[in-house]
Amino acid sequence: MSIKIALAGNPNSGKTTLFNSLTGSNQTVGNWPGVTVEKKEGKYKKDKDIIIMDLPGIYSLSPYTLEEVVARNYLINERPDAILNIVDGTNLERNLYLSTQLMELGIPTVIAINMMDVVTKQGDKIDIKQLSAELGLPVVEISALKGTGITDAANCVIEAAKQGKAVLQHSFSGIIEHAIAHIEEAAIHNLPEEQQRWYAVKLFERDEKVLEQLNLSQEVISHIEVDIASVEKELDDDSESIITNERYVFIGQVLSRCYKKQNKSKLSVSDKIDRIVTNRILALPIFAVMMFLVYTISIGTIGDWTVGFMNDTLFGEWIVPNVASGLEAIGCWDWLVSLIADGVVGGVGAVLGFVPQMLILFLLLSILEDCGYMARVAFIMDRIFRKFGLSGKSFIPMLIASGCGVPGIMASRTIEQERDRRMTIITTGFIPCGAKMPIVGLIAAALFGNSPLIATAAYFIGVAAVIVTGIILKKTKNFAGDPAPFVMELPAYHPPVPSNIFRSTWERGWSFIKRAGTVIVAASVIIWVLNSLSFEGGFHYIGEGDEQSILNVIGSAIAIIFKPLGFGNWQAAVATVLGLVAKEEVVGVFGTLSEMLPEGADLMGEVEEGVSQSAVIIGNEFFDGSKLSAFSFMIFNLLCAPCFAAMGAIKREMNNAKWTCFAIGYMTAFAYAISFIVYQLGLLFTGSVNIVGTVIAFALIAALVYLLVRPYKERTHLGKVRTK
Ligand code: GDP
Ligand code: MG
Repeated sequence: MSIKIALAGNPNSGKTTLFNSLTGSNQTVGNWPGVTVEKKEGKYKKDKDIIIMDLPGIYSLSPYTLEEVVARNYLINERPDAILNIVDGTNLERNLYLSTQLMELGIPTVIAINMMDVVTKQGDKIDIKQLSAELGLPVVEISALKGTGITDAANCVIEAAKQGKAVLQHSFSGIIEHAIAHIEEAAIHNLPEEQQRWYAVKLFERDEKVLEQLNLSQEVISHIEVDIASVEKELDDDSESIITNERYVFIGQVLSRCYKKQNKSKLSVSDKIDRIVTNRILALPIFAVMMFLVYTISIGTIGDWTVGFMNDTLFGEWIVPNVASGLEAIGCWDWLVSLIADGVVGGVGAVLGFVPQMLILFLLLSILEDCGYMARVAFIMDRIFRKFGLSGKSFIPMLIASGCGVPGIMASRTIEQERDRRMTIITTGFIPCGAKMPIVGLIAAALFGNSPLIATAAYFIGVAAVIVTGIILKKTKNFAGDPAPFVMELPAYHPPVPSNIFRSTWERGWSFIKRAGTVIVAASVIIWVLNSLSFEGGFHYIGEGDEQSILNVIGSAIAIIFKPLGFGNWQAAVATVLGLVAKEEVVGVFGTLSEMLPEGADLMGEVEEGVSQSAVIIGNEFFDGSKLSAFSFMIFNLLCAPCFAAMGAIKREMNNAKWTCFAIGYMTAFAYAISFIVYQLGLLFTGSVNIVGTVIAFALIAALVYLLVRPYKERTHLGKVRTK
């Protein structure tokens, strides 16, 4: 018989950290039937019969968001053998609020006070013996991060599960207890005894989900309603607030006896750092500088060192020619040599050339995440987003999306209001994901001497697109309404943990490499085939000839659409369309096509040191060396419809065909408008003005400004923040 132990606690209390160290790398991510949010199940390293569940974080058992519902349903319906309640020791009051509810479930529970390293450093004192006595359940101290006390905690909760004794439950004031006793008797006497109390308290609070689940007769409901109403009258408050209040009073009393906080005036190091990085004026510039540094190091410096080498030397001089001559030596057909050396190796190589930059980028982002900085950014963004009617909660999916859009879109589940969730799904794809970075890297190398400003601009163009879209949508009927309150515990800063950052860097990097080996190979073959065949004068293979290929014909037809954006040649059009398969494929297409160019593609002038020659060739051949065209191309590819995988995620999360189409259509239209404006107005500075284009560009700007400044619909009352 296996034992099931659930890790439950507030968000950011350290559940996943503990889960990872208790289960090692043995974890499996399981999608649960009927429920849309993932929870993680793993086996305890030291005893494979013990199953540990990592649940989404919750503040209470009255759920507001999808993931909170998941955690609650698991605890109530699946009933684990024991709960290990992770409590953030630096925030006892709020965390114990959940504990008082978990204790009512009638499931053996152990409290693990986490973050003890920080508590100790701050000089706070928690008397756990006393706390354990007051709460009537075992309490242990741990630091999930440092790994201290976790084996004891595990043993303790396993022991509790084996004994199966439910914990003592604290009492509310007499009058409430009286009503609860009545409710138990009238409505739920047929439930197992240990579950009765929780249901009774919930009925007292008039919890809709419980009322629905129990399906009580109208008679019973009116009966208990009398009890509830009389308590409400007596205490002059609604029943839900009465219970909340009593819980906090209880916690206050307990803490006054077991907890000593160091003199408040002493700021911890974390607080001091926060004073600067979340400062109203400095926060945003600091964030911009951080991102600039990240891109300077990854795309700039690492790019200088590696892109030239990877593309020109490794693939250009060694792999491609050697593969080609090797195949020729064994007497391979010419076309097969070209398919493998130019098509596949050219395409995949162009993508793999960005792996070192990618890994460093992911590494730096993981470090910022793990040390706690990125959590602050969500906080900072909340202040900005709130002004536009968006919640900072929407920024968390966007942070995740800087790795990959798919989990980013999935993370929108943490948002309670449907309309804000939809809006977040629509906008998350604007943030440049890992797969879009090669496009940025390529354009930066091809025409901008590897300037890190290009990548930084790409990131902030994404953020700006999110904000602009947020404002526009908030002013429509479908999205009007106040932003949800955003509560987040900010964990104290700590040095990044190597295992954490390597794990997340590797996960992101590996999926990048995996796609290069699968999707990109397949797409490169298709590109090669279509570019090697021609319809003209009968269907035939053209090899290095200069006849028009099928791809050229198709691409030229599509290219008309992109002409007003400045990249109306067939190669760029094909790359943009293939980008829907996977965004790396944009670079893959250029790689294959430049390998297939007839000999003598020229570099036109000097190539700066450290800049990849093959990138410069791409810039010259496919963008006529025009910085403006290339920049417009980059913007369009960053903002337009995402890859198929992300579209699939949008479809799943929207669960609605109309909204899915709206999201994809909106992104593409928005990308088109912005690229159009950038290119046409850019032309004003190059002297080759297009009058019609300029007029349309100004009209688009006027339309955009109108959408941005028109009044909000009544339902949005900015400035008035609803509190739970
Ligand atoms: P979850 O949301 O409950 O799963 O929390 P996580 O496991 O993701 O942890 C949230 C943050 O708290 C992370 O930055 C962790 O590194 C940090 N953290 C977790 N446990 C500890 C601890 O014992 N001490 C300190 N200082 N930080 C911790
Ligand atoms: Mg977690």
